[in-house]
Amino acid sequence: MNKLWAPWRIKYITQPQEKGCLFCRVIKETNDKNNLIVTRSQHCFAMLNAFPYNNGHIMIIPDRHVADLGDLSDREMLDIHHTLIKVKTLLTKNLAPQGFNVGINLGKTAGAGIDKHIHVHIVPRWDGDTNFMPVTANVKIISQSLGELYKKLTVKEKTRKNEPFNTPRLKNRGVR
Ligand SMILES: [Zn+2]
Repeated sequence: MNKLWAPWRIKYITQPQEKGCLFCRVIKETNDKNNLIVTRSQHCFAMLNAFPYNNGHIMIIPDRHVADLGDLSDREMLDIHHTLIKVKTLLTKNLAPQGFNVGINLGKTAGAGIDKHIHVHIVPRWDGDTNFMPVTANVKIISQSLGELYKKLTVKEKTRKNEPFNTPRLKNRGVR
């Protein structure tokens, strides 16, 4: 597999690290928009990575501050899995990726930025993204800012939920 080149992540690598746990902080806060939380479930939540490896990079995070796979209960694992599917569907509908990388980095050595609070990464992939990203990295990030992407992923979902299912449209199409 070719490596993704994400030079904007240097900001994340060089910035001072938050003292407490970032994930535990955002769970308690109520401003999901500011924290880029796309959806919350019973035992976990999904948030956009502010320093993405690719456009649409999302993390699924259990509410509980646990570090290892074996620390998660069956319910938590199932909820994380269902949320992962939900997020994948959202990304497919909104960004039409051709593939995904899904994975967990366990430990700093393996690349975990926050190694004490386990999280699952889902990274959308497009044909050739490893090739053109070095050239167009800045363009890509500017063309779809995190705020815009957040709006895209959340607003549509809310609209769908509240929309009465197919009744008025069918009438307008002459269904008797
Ligand atoms: Zn935590």
